[in-house]
Amino acid sequence: MHGQELKAALLAVGKARLTGPDATPYISSSTAGPGAGGEGSVFFSNGSMRVRFACSETGPVEIIHAGEGAAILRYGEIELSGRLEPVGLHCPEQAYITVSSGCIFNCRYCNVPLLPKRRKSIEEIHAMVEGIKDRIVAISITSGVFFDISEEEDYVCRVVRDLAQFGLPIGVSIYPTEETPSRLYGLGVKEVKFNLECATPELFAGLCPGHDRDLILRVLRKSVLLFGRDHVFSNVILGLGETDEEMDACIRELTTMGVIPVIRPLNPIAGFSGSNRPGAERMLKIAGYHEKALQKAGLDTRNATTMCVRCRGCDLVPGEPL
Ligand code: SF4
Repeated sequence: MHGQELKAALLAVGKARLTGPDATPYISSSTAGPGAGGEGSVFFSNGSMRVRFACSETGPVEIIHAGEGAAILRYGEIELSGRLEPVGLHCPEQAYITVSSGCIFNCRYCNVPLLPKRRKSIEEIHAMVEGIKDRIVAISITSGVFFDISEEEDYVCRVVRDLAQFGLPIGVSIYPTEETPSRLYGLGVKEVKFNLECATPELFAGLCPGHDRDLILRVLRKSVLLFGRDHVFSNVILGLGETDEEMDACIRELTTMGVIPVIRPLNPIAGFSGSNRPGAERMLKIAGYHEKALQKAGLDTRNATTMCVRCRGCDLVPGEPL
């Protein structure tokens, strides 16, 4: 097994048991995204592929840390030599910072609303980036919603204004208003990610109460005009109950607009804690649709400089040199 098949098999498992000498310096803990609130994550790389695993004592994948990041991954017949990658903040090579933890919304697949609410101060965020600025290539910003969407946007804009001093490309992913693309563009942000999350309007209506799917689509369209093709992204979760055809249609809707979809395998938490992650076979089938749609639209994931498309730890990303 190699390439995409291998990565799909590992992503389908998603959890790893760490053995060997202490690997604490390589463990990232998150307050946003798929690992929010868990026992932390590690990033294993064999030189070409990067995979993020949630740390779990019962994980079926074993990563044997041999010291100083050198590692061997074992899963059934699979044995890979590689490394545990050093993490900037949250993921390798980037300071990916959650401004406000916790959220006033209650999307059924997300456990961020269950986490304690806390907002980082601008000084705190500045100091976090200052501490690692020599070993990162990008800054990425995300946030829950502390009070309301407009107030959050104002606060994130203040954060971005401050972080511009570092001279690194900045990517931002927040719950948008109609004004978000132009405001962020005006602040020099390089890339944006506004998440559609669900492949169909029906799933969205049931799983994301209080959110407006049409608004997200409008904002994505505007963003492509400002930030350019290859620099606007949208996460769509695979495994919320959509069919393959529905996911294919959603991918094509996004790529036709010039948006790169990030197809994120379901992390079975919150309201989906009894569900399974999508299997490797389904991930590969959807990755085939994804690749075809990107090619047809002339989009190239290798041009991304921030956030998940640059990181690639959680997803099969067409264009990754596997
Ligand atoms: S792909 Fe995105 S969510 Fe996953 S580890 Fe990388 S930056 Fe974080």
